[in-house]
Amino acid sequence: MHPDMRVIPNELIAALRTARRVTVLTGAGISAESGVPTFREAQAGLWSHYHPEDRHPDAFQRNPQLVWEWYVWRRQLVSAAQPNAGHAALAVMQTYVPQWTLITQNVDGLHQRAGSQGVIELHGSLLRYVCSARQHIVSLEAPAMGMPPVCPRCGSLVRPDVVWFGEPLPVAAMVEAFEAAAHCDVFLSIGTSGVVQPAASLPLEALAGGALTVEINPDETPLSRRVDLTLRGPAGQLLPALGRAAWPDAD
Ligand code: NAD
Repeated sequence: MHPDMRVIPNELIAALRTARRVTVLTGAGISAESGVPTFREAQAGLWSHYHPEDRHPDAFQRNPQLVWEWYVWRRQLVSAAQPNAGHAALAVMQTYVPQWTLITQNVDGLHQRAGSQGVIELHGSLLRYVCSARQHIVSLEAPAMGMPPVCPRCGSLVRPDVVWFGEPLPVAAMVEAFEAAAHCDVFLSIGTSGVVQPAASLPLEALAGGALTVEINPDETPLSRRVDLTLRGPAGQLLPALGRAAWPDAD
């Protein structure tokens, strides 16, 4: 038996094997092992000269070049990154469950690159672009440093299709995410600090709906005491172990 598989509780293995519906919420932590900094690492490290306020519509209006260049840089970083074993394990597990919903707060597109289907992107994607009036999708293959380009249809500045502070989340994605959380048999919360709303409410919705709720994270979070099970460790190790434990032919 692979050593990581010993930490997988039997209750979870049994629940996954019989589940009709599994809902998964991921955050920045699942991409950490791909070299994409989490929000906390970003504040402490390389990105510390950018402030959370830079993810704000007002910041884009005040200094579009600064915000644009931050996103060009982040896009280059995620384009050079590879999906890790955690992303890959979720894509495999999806094929064993009749109704599988993967909700992510990440904007890096790594789940899709690992093969996950139908991913709900709650906070948008930094691989897509819209005009600042948020009316026109703009296709941009290789965004460059400097000032953001101008929308060819309305003339407003182009911005990444991500949700900034104070902006509403995409309604259809929200409705689908809350429905999937409320009506699942197993809910996995992976690599999220659980402090950004409304995503942080999804595990509570699953708890209220009677799902077996599980947190996968090396550190404690506000959710840790509320879930049924916690698996402490990196997603890149625990998710492949979980997949192998539930479906031994899954490799
Ligand atoms: P967060 O940075 O607040 O929390 C990350 C969590 O991941 C922490 O609890 C940490 O303990 C955990 N973690 C670290 N390494 C891990 C690993 N190897 N395996 C499992 N867990 C690990 O992230 P958040 O909760 O997603 O919220 C922050 C916001 O920042 C979100 O809105 C998100 O859109 C955005 N963000 C996205 C990305 C990305 O797309 N990759 C990166 C940074 C921030």
